[in-house]
Amino acid sequence: MTSENIPRATAKRLPIYYRYLNILHDTGKQRISSTELAEAVQVDSATIRRDFSYFGALGKRGYGYDVDNLLSFFKQILNQEHLTNVALIGVGNLGHALLNFNFHKDSNVRISAAFDSNQEIVNTIEDGVPVYPIGELEHQLHEQQIQVVILTVPSKAAQAVAEQAVAGGVKGIMNFTPIRINVPEDVLVQNVDLTNELQTLIYFIDNFSK
Ligand code: NAD
Repeated sequence: MTSENIPRATAKRLPIYYRYLNILHDTGKQRISSTELAEAVQVDSATIRRDFSYFGALGKRGYGYDVDNLLSFFKQILNQEHLTNVALIGVGNLGHALLNFNFHKDSNVRISAAFDSNQEIVNTIEDGVPVYPIGELEHQLHEQQIQVVILTVPSKAAQAVAEQAVAGGVKGIMNFTPIRINVPEDVLVQNVDLTNELQTLIYFIDNFSK
C-alpha cells in the first residue's frame, strides 16, 4: 500500500503513532498491544487496529505489534510526505500554545520534538509531541536531523540554549525570547515579538487609517 491509498484521517494519525513508537523503541520495548497504544496516544484501539489494517497484517493476536516493524514501516511512509520537522525548546505557556497549534494541518512543517528542563514534563508526550530533557538536545537534533528550532525559554536561558542548538547542527532559530541571541553567521535567526507587531499595527491605524 502506498501513502496515496491511506485515508487522510489515518495519515494524520501516523506521525502521532510514529513519535510514540520512537519513544518505545528508545526505551527498548519490543512489542505493544493496540490497547496500550490507545491509552498512550489517546486514539481508541478500534481506530488504531483499522488504521494499521491499511498496512496489512502487522499485528498478531495475543502478541500485539512489533515496535521495530511498525517503526520502519512508518518511517518509509512518512518520509514520502517530505515534511520538515522542527523542534520546540521550552514547553511553558507559549511553548504549549505552539505545540497545541502545531503547523502540520496547513503546511508541510510540524513540531516533532520538544525539549525542556522541567523534570515534571520531560519524557512525557504533550499534544502528541515527545518532550525530551534539554540535556539530550544536541544528540536528538543530530539523530532526528532537525535543522530548525523554535525558542520559547525564559530570557536568561536563551543564549546558552541557542548555543546548544547550534552545536546540534541547527541552521535556523525562530526566537520568541526578547534576547538578541548571538549565533554563527551561517545560522539564521528570525525574531518574533508579538508586542512589536501589535504596536506596528496600532501605529499604522493611528497614522494612516482614514
Ligand atoms: P514559561 O516560564 O511559561 O515557559 C518557559 C519554559 O522553558 C518552561 O517550561 C521551563 O521549564 C523551560 N525552561 C527554562 N529553562 C530552560 C532551559 N535551560 N532549557 C530548556 N527549557 C527551559 O514562559 P513563557 O511565558 O512561555 O515565555 C517563554 C519565552 O517566550 C520568554 O522568553 C518570553 O519572554 C517569551 N515570550 C515572547 C512573546 C513574543 O511575542 N515574542 C510572547 C510571550 C512570551
